[in-house]
Amino acid sequence: MPAKELDSPCMDCKDTESVLTVRRRQLCGACFKRFVSYKVFRRMEKYKPPRNPQDPRHQLLLPLSFGVSSSVLLRMLDAELERQRSKNFARNTFDLHVLVIEPSTMAGSSVPYDRNYEAVQKIFPQHTYSQVPFHSIFEYVPDMNEIMREYTGPQFTDDSSRSNAERLAAFRAAISTATSATDVDSVLLTRLVAAFAKQSGCETVLWGDSDSRLAAKALAGVAKGRGASLTWRVSDGVSPWGLQFDFPLRDLYKAELIQYESVCPELAEIIIPDEPPSDNVLTKNLSIDELMMRYVETQGAKYPGVMANVARTVNKLETSNSGNASCGLCGGLVGNVKRNSGVTVSSQAESSGSPFCYGCMRSRPEINC
Ligand SMILES: [Zn+2]
Ligand SMILES: [Zn+2]
Repeated sequence: MPAKELDSPCMDCKDTESVLTVRRRQLCGACFKRFVSYKVFRRMEKYKPPRNPQDPRHQLLLPLSFGVSSSVLLRMLDAELERQRSKNFARNTFDLHVLVIEPSTMAGSSVPYDRNYEAVQKIFPQHTYSQVPFHSIFEYVPDMNEIMREYTGPQFTDDSSRSNAERLAAFRAAISTATSATDVDSVLLTRLVAAFAKQSGCETVLWGDSDSRLAAKALAGVAKGRGASLTWRVSDGVSPWGLQFDFPLRDLYKAELIQYESVCPELAEIIIPDEPPSDNVLTKNLSIDELMMRYVETQGAKYPGVMANVARTVNKLETSNSGNASCGLCGGLVGNVKRNSGVTVSSQAESSGSPFCYGCMRSRPEINC
């Protein structure tokens, strides 16, 4: 018998008023957090404590965008480390490095974030924090100048007397369509994060993509001719740079992460709210990635199981690295893709000797337009 009269008791602890409904169950904040954290930490169990106390701990890198997903993931990982400490574990099983790519140096984001950056370090002080501008890709990936020159072709002149910020801006301005621009940005971002992780001695990047985002990435990836690299863009596994890429939020819908935010008041100081999608933007001006995200968010709300299935199916794909060359820009495979790792891409790139994959060639700047 419950000790007190409750209008709508939590279905787990039966002792507290429920505050939200998740997967048809009414739960209180504490039980909801436990449910969600379980889905994340059963994916992190592989990071076991070192056998000998003197062995190094796992070094994990979390890219933080100040969006809901990566901020919620940081909150969960922080809580897990706290739990380990409180259980008198000899040591934590991992150290967390938080990386912020300065939003002001990315396309289309002029939102000030200094306060959020200060707040996150104050609220979760146990971790190592770094922030780097987007154009620091030239420092972290030393051959990036050459890769870009080769990728853009002879019509594009890279002026080495300009600053890195100006050079990156010129390169991005040369890309004409919204889809290609978003596509190349995400390729560069991944490379920067991977290169930073390697230089900081991290073995794994923990990406904060929700199930909804992974489904959108999978659908957009296929549409953009990047089916071959879905295995490490969307699935847990080893990336072309030898680092492990993990997606610990893969069993949670975006809506559930928003619910998590609602029961963690401290996150309000960290999260920069998403701009609501504008109805005035013409669909043809949206990138495929944005279109897919909108589609998944609207349809996923109605049929969450379908979207979960997309992400789950992609996670079962096997990586095929059977001696194929990898793309100079994105690290994906160049040439035909064997086995079940995605769409079979044309061998045009291979026969023309291009060092870039089909997906990257499609996003190449069209200098003649
Ligand atoms: Zn409860
Ligand atoms: Zn590529």
